[in-house]
Amino acid sequence: MDKIPVGISSCLIGEEVRWNGGHKHAGEVVDTFGGIFRWVPVCPEVEVGMGVPREAVGLYGSPDQPLMLGNESQTDWTAGMNDFSLLRVKELEAENLCGFIFKSKSPSCGVRDVPVYKAHGSRHSQPGRGLFAAAFLKCHPLIPVADEEELRDLKTRENFIARVRQASAGDGV
Ligand code: SF4
Repeated sequence: MDKIPVGISSCLIGEEVRWNGGHKHAGEVVDTFGGIFRWVPVCPEVEVGMGVPREAVGLYGSPDQPLMLGNESQTDWTAGMNDFSLLRVKELEAENLCGFIFKSKSPSCGVRDVPVYKAHGSRHSQPGRGLFAAAFLKCHPLIPVADEEELRDLKTRENFIARVRQASAGDGV
């Protein structure tokens, strides 16, 4: 049987794309899907041209419409990342993705609970969503998404697989 195409934040499958040149391989989660899913990896920060290694970025300002700024230099990546995300999300339509596993808490990839900082450095009580993940969810609200943290729970993982299979039966998006 053909494997089901599922998008994934590249660092979760061990690609060394993080700001510090490392990865966040979540083998105990993603390796359990290996026989079922075909990974379509995306690293928004590398693909937008930030390079490896790079300055770490964060979300600042309004949790509903945050800015993406370099944590030290405050370089503003917001427009670049938003423009890239729209194009990349469109391009991914050709992959017929039936799911996406995002890296938790990332200012680019996080789907929930991403810290948003006020100008003077303290954190908003309301969390935000990474800019690429936000663009993906806006364009594809029906595709099942999850992050690696929630998928550590077996029941949640089984539920995610079921929803991806269902999307696959409907031939992706
Ligand atoms: S969380 Fe997203 S942007 Fe950050 S390294 Fe992983 S894939 Fe790249």
